Amino acid sequence: ASASIGVTGLAVMGSNLARNFARHGYTVAVHNRTPTRTRSLIEEFGNEGSFVPAEKPADFVASLERPRRLVVMVKAGEPTDAVIDEFVPLLDPGDIVIDGGNAHFQDTRRREAALRERGIHFVGTGISGGEEGALHGPSIMPGGSAEAYAALGPMLEKISAHVDGEPCCTHIGADGAGHFVKMVHNGIEYADMQLIAEAYDLLRRAAGKTPAQLAEIFRRWNTGMLNSYLIEITAEVLAHTDQDTGKPFVDIVADAAEQKGTGRWTVQIALDVGAPVPGIAEAVFARSLSGHTELRAAARQLSGPQGPALTGADADRLVDRVEQALYASKIVSYAQGWNMIQAAADQFGWDIDLGSVAKIWRGGCIIRAGFLDEIRSAYAANPALPTLLADERFARQLGEAQDAWRAVVTTAAQQGIPTPGFSSALAYYDALRADRLPAALIQGLRDFFGAHTYLRTDREGVFHTEWSGDRSETRK
Ligand code: NDP
Repeated sequence: ASASIGVTGLAVMGSNLARNFARHGYTVAVHNRTPTRTRSLIEEFGNEGSFVPAEKPADFVASLERPRRLVVMVKAGEPTDAVIDEFVPLLDPGDIVIDGGNAHFQDTRRREAALRERGIHFVGTGISGGEEGALHGPSIMPGGSAEAYAALGPMLEKISAHVDGEPCCTHIGADGAGHFVKMVHNGIEYADMQLIAEAYDLLRRAAGKTPAQLAEIFRRWNTGMLNSYLIEITAEVLAHTDQDTGKPFVDIVADAAEQKGTGRWTVQIALDVGAPVPGIAEAVFARSLSGHTELRAAARQLSGPQGPALTGADADRLVDRVEQALYASKIVSYAQGWNMIQAAADQFGWDIDLGSVAKIWRGGCIIRAGFLDEIRSAYAANPALPTLLADERFARQLGEAQDAWRAVVTTAAQQGIPTPGFSSALAYYDALRADRLPAALIQGLRDFFGAHTYLRTDREGVFHTEWSGDRSETRK
């Protein structure tokens, strides 16, 4: 046995992770169901470090130092179970199986419990940053036991991205916590991209900016409070010209956004854990709507506002306002994401350090941004912060942005340009800060038609009004 870690599943993610370990001086055992992938990894990149290729699972396992550390990097779902079933009989108590795929956190909880019975550690690990991240340093979100992390964490920290000398990897919490947090990361990514798309759409259609001008605007925004990877690549995409037609690239791409499923999971599970994440939900639904070409074709004749687009100073003012609206909406969607993590932690008994989640997303992953440092500071100042909106600094920034934010939503409505992300974020902000919500009326209606009862603001107890009788109130 000579390899300190093994990777099975050598498609793009697995081979890049294996190379990342090897480039950091680890001897890496490599295996893939179809051996040609293993061979081509060694042929192309074998000189980057020390690899131990194996074609048979037994040889692969035999080449690992104990406790064995085995990374599974295969297609999520049934293939992961198939690989676990194949390898587990070859392992011993104390060995560690790491699932780096995009698993559903409930699958991870199930697998962790099953392997724990055999004394084997199962570490469901979120890995973000795509293929580039896997090779050069991803953001890594391991779940599983603290004991497993003690034996594995230092290696993962070493190959992760680093920001200010700190690794973008930390032990998230027990069993499925790592995959849960990775899923919420992807949900937030959906929301970020939706907000960016709305900013682009508004400034293009309501302020008449060209893609080239917009590329410059996003480039400028990237030097300010919105500084982030997604804003940076938005400028790149908007500046790109189609080589065939000479048109802006954004104009030759079909306007139906696809999704692989982690955004949808985030929304489904948010409903299960009772965490309101309307920003993520709007983003998922907006992608879904964009793909309904038949609905859109059927509705194309509906009338819209006739107002002229903004020009001159009005158009330029809108640019500044949209920057504010984008930032404020982003704070709101991150607040929703963090609350969802907290809700799941409460429900599943995970001890998650909310500030450290912000810390490890500062580098390596798709939503990396300067802004995450502020979230980290907010939780450092108050680890029990009930919502990011209550943090002094964020509250002040939202207060400063709100006039611009409201103007943007108003302009969008007047111009007939959909901004579900901006509008829903503003509605969330206004709902949280409201003294009274109309939920009181909803309770009244529920009691009227279904005798569902209500609580009073001024008395203890559960009440019902005899709506079809004399309208007297009874205590239940
Ligand atoms: P794929 O998701 O395309 O999976 C291909 C790999 O899975 C191949 O090695 C394939 O082996 C193996 N595989 C499939 N079915 C089986 C099976 N029944 N038994 C054994 N092996 C099987 O590869 P990616 O590299 O794109 O992703 C790997 C994992 O990482 C996935 O879970 C993905 O969701 C996740 N991920 C991907 C990211 C990305 O940017 N692509 C980012 C973060 C996570 P074979 O060669 O024999 O077919």
